[in-house]
Amino acid sequence: MSGLFTCPVCGRPLEREERTWACKKGHSFDVAAEGYAYLLPPNKKHSKDPGDTRQMVAARRAFLEAGYYEPFRRRLCELACEALQGVPAPAVLDAGCGEGWYTSALLDTLHGAGMTPELCGFDISKSAVRAAAKRHKGIAFAVASAFSIPAADASADLVVNVFAPIVPEELSRVAKPGSFLLLAIPTPRHLYGMKEILYEKPYENEYRETTYPGFSLVRREAVTGEITVNSPEHIEALFSMTPYYWKTPREGAERLRRLSSLHTEIGFDFLLYRREDRP
Ligand SMILES: [Zn+2]
Repeated sequence: MSGLFTCPVCGRPLEREERTWACKKGHSFDVAAEGYAYLLPPNKKHSKDPGDTRQMVAARRAFLEAGYYEPFRRRLCELACEALQGVPAPAVLDAGCGEGWYTSALLDTLHGAGMTPELCGFDISKSAVRAAAKRHKGIAFAVASAFSIPAADASADLVVNVFAPIVPEELSRVAKPGSFLLLAIPTPRHLYGMKEILYEKPYENEYRETTYPGFSLVRREAVTGEITVNSPEHIEALFSMTPYYWKTPREGAERLRRLSSLHTEIGFDFLLYRREDRP
């Protein structure tokens, strides 16, 4: 299924054919055996595979499937479901979907609420998208860039973004008037216990009050908790999911790698915005 996705060359809708997604102008995109396609803009096609590696994707999946973040996933799904009340067949886009852990639960939740959603997820990491597509049928997945989302103007009823890069102009462009944008960002104390190990002087995440042109904030809700991560593999996986992975001095990373158990606060801030109607 190609879902909401449009041709990255000309912007026309993509029709599903045997092993390709193709637009009416004749641009066609191979669908990999797992069921996803590359929809990067033409000038980006030959760049090196960006984003997470296959190994990092596997580690992250193991961490997520161990359930540490389950309360976040549940709340995300509830908020999405509430926002979409009254839309029987919503078009939902997961921007920066990773290996589809949240996307697949969104599909199940919306189905469970009696909707027939059309779900699409994209990510810049081919390894993540491949893992997502392999596992979760019934969702259209593509390798694509947040800076050039392969979806038509005003086509999405809900855009979800969990800890992924945010490009406001693109989110605003693909959102239907009256549609919703659901963001998850870290709370100030998210992973503070990990940062106490990593850094001599740990710091809290900045509390952001972000406004996006064309959107108004409907609600903001923090979901917080504490977890004990009881295996070095899961600690390493969690570490690799954070921006600290790339910028922590070696001594800090080594301190973390000597732990057999890590206790930390966690927290997601959910921000629900509504796309204003166009003038
Ligand atoms: Zn085209």
